[in-house]
Amino acid sequence: MQLQRASSTEALLDGADEASSSASGAVPLHGGTEVVPLLRAGLLQADALVDIRGVVPCGIEVLDRLRPADGGGTRIGAGATLAELECDPQVPAALREACRLAASPQLRNMGSVGGNLLQATRCWYWRLKWPCRLHGGDECFAHEGEHREHAIFANDFCASAHPSDVAAALLALDARLRTNRRELPVAELYRLPTEDDRRTTTLEPGELILEIDVPEPESSVYLKAMERKRWAFPIVGVAAARTGGVTRVALAGVAPVPWLLEGGIDEATPLPRNAYKVEVGRALVKRALAALDQG
Ligand SMILES: Cc1cc2nc3c(=O)[nH]c(=O)nc-3n(C[C@H](O)[C@H](O)[C@H](O)COP(=O)(O)OP(=O)(O)OC[C@H]3O[C@@H](n4cnc5c(N)ncnc54)[C@H](O)[C@@H]3O)c2cc1C
Ligand code: SF4
Repeated sequence: MQLQRASSTEALLDGADEASSSASGAVPLHGGTEVVPLLRAGLLQADALVDIRGVVPCGIEVLDRLRPADGGGTRIGAGATLAELECDPQVPAALREACRLAASPQLRNMGSVGGNLLQATRCWYWRLKWPCRLHGGDECFAHEGEHREHAIFANDFCASAHPSDVAAALLALDARLRTNRRELPVAELYRLPTEDDRRTTTLEPGELILEIDVPEPESSVYLKAMERKRWAFPIVGVAAARTGGVTRVALAGVAPVPWLLEGGIDEATPLPRNAYKVEVGRALVKRALAALDQG
């Protein structure tokens, strides 16, 4: 396997970098905290790894206007690490806290925010290479099997629980992404897998996340329930943000994609052995909204 360095985002877009073509089996690599374990486990195949650290911005800056029509906020390079975000006072509280509560200090020092948004499911059947629907098969083994940590929303086709604390925070904060091809709300990065298309993101081959624009909220918070106090994925993570007088609540660990809570938590459709997540979610949403009111 080759290790290559991307020369520019334009080259990636044009296919001028040999490594940019999906046909070449090249995989972008930033911190590698997700890519390397997947390669080792045989869950990801690559002819080449493309080190994108030279072409993906990594700064964090406060801007008066994120786009001409918008108010102020923070522009975050997709290459910024979780460790940098968790301690930067320019970053809204919900995102800082989501980063602080994720993974371990070593992983947060290596892991980028862009890579975090694109991490694969932690579903143990998928990780153990059971031929389930996300692997292109006909069955979701979690439905009949062990699903204590699985999804309580949109879990009909695949019951995997999206593991990113950071994505839930960005969803509540109504962040927008800029890639080398388009601008999109963070919600549009994700899609629920279907019979016809098993992908959980809309990112195309050769497309890189470059920057994340986060509008400045009046108030924001992130709360996380996990199996132990440190270094655990969310059982349920709840992000809440009030921006321009509008409150948005988004959840991690409850659906195959980061979940914007538009109806109530009572709209959840838990599996037989994970209904406890509904109660955990209800309590955390209540606490998060109370924390927003306190400012
Ligand atoms: C043991 C463990 C525990 C963890 N716990 C948590 C947790 O509790 N909460 C949580 O939210 N996360 C958790 N994580 C996830 C961790 O935060 C991510 O692995 C890390 O942020 C990924 O960043 P990276 O730069 O290392 O990504 P990489 O491994 O380099 O890349 C990850 C994926 O993103 C793609 N990619 C990377 N950057 C870009 C880009 N700019 N544009 C397009 N594609 C890109 C890669 O091709 C790859 O598919 C955990 C990870 C581990 C291994
Ligand atoms: S929850 Fe999704 S990833 Fe897990 S076994 Fe079912 S189809 Fe596969």
